[in-house]
Amino acid sequence: MKTVFALVDCNNFYVSCERVFDPSLEHRPVVVLSNNDGCVVARSNEAKALGIQMGTPFFKCRDLIRKNSGKVFSSNYSLYADMSQRVMRTLEQFTPDFEIYSIDEAFLEFRAEDLFSLEQLGRRIKNTIRQHTGIPISIGIGQTKTLAKIANKIAKQSASGTFDITDHPDTDILLESIPCNDVWGVGMQYEKLLKLNGILTARNLKYADDAWLRKKMTVMGLRTVWELRGISCIPLEMATLSKKGICSSRSFGKPVETLNELAEALADYTAIAAEKLRKQRSVAPILQVYLSTNRFKPEPQYSAHITYKLPEATAYTPELVRYATACLGKIYRPGYQYKKVSIFFAGIQPQKYLQPNLFPVTRNTFAQKSRFMNAVDSINGRWGSNTAQFAAAGIKKSWRMRRQYTSQHYTTRWSDLPVVKACKTG
Ligand SMILES: [Mg+2]
Repeated sequence: MKTVFALVDCNNFYVSCERVFDPSLEHRPVVVLSNNDGCVVARSNEAKALGIQMGTPFFKCRDLIRKNSGKVFSSNYSLYADMSQRVMRTLEQFTPDFEIYSIDEAFLEFRAEDLFSLEQLGRRIKNTIRQHTGIPISIGIGQTKTLAKIANKIAKQSASGTFDITDHPDTDILLESIPCNDVWGVGMQYEKLLKLNGILTARNLKYADDAWLRKKMTVMGLRTVWELRGISCIPLEMATLSKKGICSSRSFGKPVETLNELAEALADYTAIAAEKLRKQRSVAPILQVYLSTNRFKPEPQYSAHITYKLPEATAYTPELVRYATACLGKIYRPGYQYKKVSIFFAGIQPQKYLQPNLFPVTRNTFAQKSRFMNAVDSINGRWGSNTAQFAAAGIKKSWRMRRQYTSQHYTTRWSDLPVVKACKTG
């Protein structure tokens, strides 16, 4: 059975999310900054045209953006995650064979005989996403996932935003214009090797020798090359595997010195990670706590970590906070300016295989703990995170990240709903 793949990629995703709720941002340079407003992580086409590169520190382009009446945003991840959900739910309506590849990318698979025109299908998907979510996308269609990725790159340059490589009379001409390292799965480690052997373009790679490829790039490299030849070797990954490890870690907005403040931040991160754990119905048997100063500053340096095996795997926040705090106490040294504390849950396992301890470590039963955490999660799910939170995580949270330019939580907080038109009553 012949199938084709479509790769859907949201254009300048974070910027597009901001634009949906503020149309005055259209046709202006817009950038979104990383955590702590450090550097640029998303750019509108206008910002790209000003020469602002990905990863540029904010202070280096601040004036340039201001001079060109541009706009700057701190990253608003709850908005981006929610908009991503909406895009993915809409895409799902087109086919059951569907893989979420990243926050703003998805693969769709179609049976070729079902389709009248791929180009038309691409346009229909693009228009539907635009209408349902306001997000502009590009679509590349190809016989394999690797070719769909390449088609998407070409689609990005085209006015229509869609490109069907299966329809092209001479694919080799297109592949000639794609450098090797732009091929999906060819990482930096192979780029050099290929160059040394005169393989510079995707077309060169397509006609490389199988035995040589297998020897030098393993069977994974060979798979990529077969995909360039139109033979599908990389299937969709439809089941999202639950995470084996969960980490919650952020740099502080300002250096933190006291154990109290560190413990607050750690409790906050632990609560976030524990919520993720419960969302995927898992429990953690092992936790690790990391603590470090800022190694880019000319100050006394210290960093440490500690691993702790819990007496019983759990997803119960109060217990996890208690153990994490105890771990922190063991590695904390006074007199340093700390930049970061993190928590990592390892060896995560499904809750249904939990082996309860014969001699329970806490007085509350498993059912009581679950009921309690369910209540907390549903309150926060409905009224926003941290509506119900643990006192251990602090009230003032002076260590919080810097986020000076955040937009509203348009889609996930009632009070931030956009107002279309204010009207007088009565
Ligand atoms: Mg994108």
